[in-house]
Amino acid sequence: MIENTEAMEMRAREDVGLAQDLIPPVSPLAAALHGRFLAFHCTACFRPLESPLLCAACRGATRYCSAACFTADSSAHSASGECRLLFLRHNRDDGDTDLRVALRFLHLFESTGPVHLASLPERPRRVAGLLASDLEKVIEEEGEMAERIAEGAALMSLARDRDRSRVGGGEAVTPEEVLWAVLTNAVEVQVSEVGPLGVAVYGPGFSWFNHSCLPNACYRFELAQSSSEQGCAKPKSLLASPAAVGVAADTLKAWICAGSGLAHGFSKFGPRVIVRSIKPIKKDEKICITYIDLLQPKIKRQSDLWEKYRFVCRCWRCSLSSQIYMDLVLNGIELWQLR
Ligand SMILES: [Zn+2]
Ligand SMILES: [Zn+2]
Ligand SMILES: [Zn+2]
Repeated sequence: MIENTEAMEMRAREDVGLAQDLIPPVSPLAAALHGRFLAFHCTACFRPLESPLLCAACRGATRYCSAACFTADSSAHSASGECRLLFLRHNRDDGDTDLRVALRFLHLFESTGPVHLASLPERPRRVAGLLASDLEKVIEEEGEMAERIAEGAALMSLARDRDRSRVGGGEAVTPEEVLWAVLTNAVEVQVSEVGPLGVAVYGPGFSWFNHSCLPNACYRFELAQSSSEQGCAKPKSLLASPAAVGVAADTLKAWICAGSGLAHGFSKFGPRVIVRSIKPIKKDEKICITYIDLLQPKIKRQSDLWEKYRFVCRCWRCSLSSQIYMDLVLNGIELWQLR
């Protein structure tokens, strides 16, 4: 989810009206509940628990709503190292949610081998189609982010109980790269007013939507019925397609199919994301969502985007030399609050 010249973008395949779903629901490549919800929600489907089944190995830190969720998820939970991480870390703050997503994502590589995306150029660096470039730069800077990645990768290796060797065949990855891809591509899963339940990372079918501070689309999550089975997305329901040099228009279709096939064995029941238009969109127009809280003045938006996603937004709203009315008001509110 980084916007730069190398980024993919999504465009409308045809004229789209208001409030239309642009892609079919996309299953996560990996997802994890925030620590404070582990005791109350199912680790596999994120639904609230009634009479939970507990994972004994992490002393009940991980709970499932049903035998189906338990069976579908328990091997990924233990083989990824998530179970051991939860066993080792007693205080379950939300700080290690990203680590648990990264462990699950890494496990996906180990289990499926390289995740290939036909017709994608080799540069910039991608992990399962998600932009993961500039890691070397971040590590060289030796800032807070570099520290977080080094610490996180060390914890991941401890939880996985093996060295930090590269994983996978053709598309070999390191724990650091996977964690970096998660930190810059993952989204908070918000389904109700209780706040984000956890964090999930989705394939290109979702991650290639760029950010704008004046978006024409939004996204929402839906929790799978534990009995539902997902097939491959029907091509006719795709109103968006990727647009980038060297990428065939059918790539997304292939990816959504591959993505849901992949997710099928792993996050089959995980929270699915749907992108919907919030304005009429013309054929070939770029489709953008927002990654941040838009009710903030430009300076706050830009710092949020840099901190979390490391890019400078050049959307229409950010590049105006004089502020639009909304930003004047937001700046006024900020000044008033500082008094
Ligand atoms: Zn469940
Ligand atoms: Zn466990
Ligand atoms: Zn902007």
